[in-house]
Amino acid sequence: MKRQVSLEEISDGRLYSKNDMVKAGCGGCKGCSDCCSGMGNSVILDPLDIYRLTTGLGLGFEALMADKIELNVVDGIILPNLKMSSGSETCAFLNREGRCSIHPWRPGICRLFPLGRYYETRPVSEGSRSGAQVRSFRYFLQVHECPVVHKTKVKVEKWIDTPNVSRYEKFVNDWHYFLEDVQERLEQEADDVVKNANLFLLKLFYIRPYDGGADFYAQFEERLTQAREVLEVGVLY
Ligand code: SF4
Ligand code: SF4
Repeated sequence: MKRQVSLEEISDGRLYSKNDMVKAGCGGCKGCSDCCSGMGNSVILDPLDIYRLTTGLGLGFEALMADKIELNVVDGIILPNLKMSSGSETCAFLNREGRCSIHPWRPGICRLFPLGRYYETRPVSEGSRSGAQVRSFRYFLQVHECPVVHKTKVKVEKWIDTPNVSRYEKFVNDWHYFLEDVQERLEQEADDVVKNANLFLLKLFYIRPYDGGADFYAQFEERLTQAREVLEVGVLY
């Protein structure tokens, strides 16, 4: 989800890479579950999140749709997000003790918080006339979102608690810019074309089961290649 806010307003003004130290450590979130409530539809799930949830919990996408996740349109594309329970407005995975009941399989956004991602494009080289662009992202620290005052320094790579961070970051980048390309591609299309494209993407990346015994990234790459061919959107930069 794109947010049109100034980075200066919401961050410490710095951008971080995976090897940087950042003051994000919240001391194990003792007694706090603020970021598991009132999030509306903002905890958007990517294909890796669904791989983790379906294979980790042994539930299919449809079963999750019963009461744990829901679908919403984000910048023209239908995507799943964590569902907040009506009334309490808390995540359906928050247990009575105020802890995450799916900690090992929690989504990427939950692993990241209070960090966020800042996507940026720049020319491949200074003075390049080809127009080719490098599309990447870095991290930023959201300074108004977590109530812990004295946060500890932690390496970004450790904080996001995800094995093989380089492959993970490539996936995050590919997925983000693929969605951006699809949004652009569908902007001028008729409603029925947009609807069919959305159904296709939903089935391909979310509803079709992933093999929990096989590497996620290889499965994702295969589906991404297929989606690019069908929707005729380009390979990244
Ligand atoms: S708001 Fe901060 S301390 Fe509270 S649960 Fe979220 S990350 Fe942990
Ligand atoms: S999945 Fe876990 S960490 Fe994420 S919002 Fe829900 S309860 Fe909180």
